[in-house]
Amino acid sequence: MSAQLQRRYDVVIVGGAVIGSAAAYFLSENRNFTGSILVVEPDSTYENAQTTRAQNSIREQFSQPVNIQISQFGMDFLDNFHENTQVNGEAPLINFRGTGYLFLSEDPAHLAVLERDSTLQRTHGAEVRMLAPRSISEEFSFLDTSSLVGARMGSSREGSFDGWSLLQGFRSRAEHNGVTYLTDRVVRLVRGDGGRITSVGLESGRSVSCGHVVNAAGPRAKLIAAMVGLDLPVEPRARTSFVFDCPTEIPGNVPLIITPEGVHFRREQHHYITGAVPVDDTAVDYDDLTTRRDEFEDLIWPVLAKYVPQFDQVKVITSWGGQYAYNVLDHNLIIGACSLVPNLIFANGFSGHGLQQAPAVGRGISELITYGEFRTIDMTALGYERIQKNEAFVENVVI
Ligand SMILES: Cc1cc2nc3c(=O)[nH]c(=O)nc-3n(C[C@H](O)[C@H](O)[C@H](O)COP(=O)(O)OP(=O)(O)OC[C@H]3O[C@@H](n4cnc5c(N)ncnc54)[C@H](O)[C@@H]3O)c2cc1C
Repeated sequence: MSAQLQRRYDVVIVGGAVIGSAAAYFLSENRNFTGSILVVEPDSTYENAQTTRAQNSIREQFSQPVNIQISQFGMDFLDNFHENTQVNGEAPLINFRGTGYLFLSEDPAHLAVLERDSTLQRTHGAEVRMLAPRSISEEFSFLDTSSLVGARMGSSREGSFDGWSLLQGFRSRAEHNGVTYLTDRVVRLVRGDGGRITSVGLESGRSVSCGHVVNAAGPRAKLIAAMVGLDLPVEPRARTSFVFDCPTEIPGNVPLIITPEGVHFRREQHHYITGAVPVDDTAVDYDDLTTRRDEFEDLIWPVLAKYVPQFDQVKVITSWGGQYAYNVLDHNLIIGACSLVPNLIFANGFSGHGLQQAPAVGRGISELITYGEFRTIDMTALGYERIQKNEAFVENVVI
């Protein structure tokens, strides 16, 4: 649906999926921000957005304290989701299930890293436990622990939720607050004095003057940065998801389990959902959302059956292709402006953890635009400056 357009908006957000809508939501909820907001999004069904192709989980088990804080705020936001996003007393159901994440280890050196990070995670308020193979068997009797040396288990503050509801909650409330969503595509950013962007050119031929521009274009973020001559080390990487059935009932909690081979799986209602890092993990075309069906048989299934003997017999019931907006420098998000184009705010490079980071990132963008600084979680270390200096701020726990 096309909206009636003003000629100028204080903030133009490029991309209206979960990150763009989180930014619109938090700006429009911020009493100290009184400006106008336009969200430009070409795909009103979100069929090709990564937000609707994700596996919808949230965890505290990161290796960087700032990422732990970001997800903890994400969890707090989900806790109060109905209150946070209601419009006329109604809000989508977020349906959070706190199963925890279980990281398995077969190698003492890898286990030492899990243990080292568990100390850091606990220092930052995450309830994680190291488990010896015997404790793994006791708690998760369906797992074959014969090759394992240990594991790290998170708390019920980790789990899965409805990602579509998160997006809808942000968007409905933002629109209710007066944010304009426009079905169009940004094709040009025009710069004026001091390098600032003065207007945004749209595919429809229209042009909108702007105060700030937020880059929330997901895997296409690099193309937006290139419109003002900046580089972003963000590229699309293919990720295929599979939902399968297992004829044998597995009783009890099946957390989100990450194997040393890079395969992850969890229970999804009466089914299971899984995926893996592809063997050839390189950049793909922006439009490439191919489902790489061979991955299940070649890569995933043997690993599933190794750890869960019942998974020797499974049936794939659906699968779909997606993309990570992969930050090749350090697998971490890039948030904030750049001195060369001071009114362009990045929110890019989520490398597979953008859904859970959306609340903190949306709030951070609102703070940057309203106050010129972070006021709650200090995300300065995740800024664009490190990209300019080519200094990595690495997140090790990427699934
Ligand atoms: C298989 C898979 C599993 C995942 N699992 C998880 C998970 O368990 N937990 C988690 O936290 N995250 C997960 N993610 C990551 C998460 O989906 C993303 O980080 C998040 O959805 C990113 O949101 P986004 O708004 O930045 O990008 P997107 O959802 O891709 O949205 C970007 C939007 O920008 C629009 N756009 C692009 N170019 C333009 C333009 N020129 N003008 C205007 N608009 C434009 C697009 O149409 C699109 O709607 C997963 C991702 C995948 C692929």
